[in-house]
Amino acid sequence: MSAQLTVKKSGIYGKGCFALAHFTARKKIATYAGELVKGSRKIEARLRRQQEVAIKIIRIDENTAVDGAVGGNETAYINHSCDPNAFMRVVPGQKVAIFARRDIRPGEELTINYRDPYHPEVCKCGAANCRSKRRRRGQ
Ligand SMILES: [Zn+2]
Repeated sequence: MSAQLTVKKSGIYGKGCFALAHFTARKKIATYAGELVKGSRKIEARLRRQQEVAIKIIRIDENTAVDGAVGGNETAYINHSCDPNAFMRVVPGQKVAIFARRDIRPGEELTINYRDPYHPEVCKCGAANCRSKRRRRGQ
């Protein structure tokens, strides 16, 4: 658990992950903790199960993923946004880390653009470039 992050009710969906400290752009915020899952069938099964609640499994490659629902930290609660303030990268040693995409002030909810087919088609992030708005305009 991090002293720089907290989990509370989100304005986007369910619970969210919020900054307690100031993060400058490109700075590492935290490691996406969780159980290392091996095997594409195992990963698919967990994704299907989580789809109805909240996706907490992050793919590293086809056969490896980190499941934040098991042994995860605050970062497992980071919601999707089409205009996020954070992003994730795989770092050597099969770990996933979260970085600031821009300066983040204490109190801001952290968001990531997950770009995967498992997140709901109807997005409520409220960003100007939200994929739900784009879809409604027929683009
Ligand atoms: Zn959106």
